[in-house]
Amino acid sequence: MADIVLDGVDKVYGGDVKAVDDLNLHIEDGEFMVLVGPSGCGKSTALRMIAGLEEITGGTLAIGDEIVNDRPPKDRDIAMVFQNYALYPHMTVEQNLAFGLKLRKVSKSEIARRVKEAAGMLGLEPYLKRKPGALSGGQRQRVAMGRAIVREPRAFLMDEPLSNLDAKLRVQMRASLNQLHERLGVTTVYVTHDQVEAMTLGDRVAVLRDGRLQQVDTPKRLFDAP
Ligand code: ADP
Ligand code: ADP
Repeated sequence: MADIVLDGVDKVYGGDVKAVDDLNLHIEDGEFMVLVGPSGCGKSTALRMIAGLEEITGGTLAIGDEIVNDRPPKDRDIAMVFQNYALYPHMTVEQNLAFGLKLRKVSKSEIARRVKEAAGMLGLEPYLKRKPGALSGGQRQRVAMGRAIVREPRAFLMDEPLSNLDAKLRVQMRASLNQLHERLGVTTVYVTHDQVEAMTLGDRVAVLRDGRLQQVDTPKRLFDAP
């Protein structure tokens, strides 16, 4: 089970900037939750606290029944995908996908199995022997997602993963993300400032403003309201 439960979570930067203010949010196991709102509303900070990349200054954060406030990122068993996918330029796609698993001492046969499966899901099979320099932006973003998938984490966190892609690729990648989520069913928290992305991807959407949660509901109820 990987519910993610934020209970009265605060983040204060430098003693006076309240980036996140009393955030209460229960992300269900297997749910695709989108955090949406204008620049500076605290989305990235909230996500980075879930990842353990940013300390919480108040409240509690639980992942799957365990309070993780003081747990470092590596002990949280979650994977994060950023907008600036940092791939290793000297490694092939296959090596990029396998690298994190090698570090974790996963067996060769298991690595091969997971790389094959992720490449299949992401349509990366034709590019496995290429290096990132010979890929399009969309293909690179797929490799970055592949690196998260092969870890088989209990949750994915994504911070504006499509914002460096052009409009056509964004549409394609939204469809791929929906398919992936249907197949894997992994709890996902996805940050964007784009309402269309929020609507097409989220099981539910949490709207933030000035660090506070304004609304959380299904896209249909949020955006089609009479
Ligand atoms: P968003 O992701 O919605 O654009 P952020 O979480 O990046 O919002 O930022 C929320 C607020 O916190 C903003 O006012 C921002 O300037 C501030 N902030 C973010 N990161 C830091 C930081 N490392 N130090 C100080 N202030 C920060
Ligand atoms: P985003 O809107 O995607 O969060 P930003 O440009 O606001 O992107 O932030 C990029 C990085 O800079 C983040 O790591 C954030 O924590 C940090 N940051 C944002 N605002 C501030 C700030 N006022 N002081 C210091 N660091 C900040």
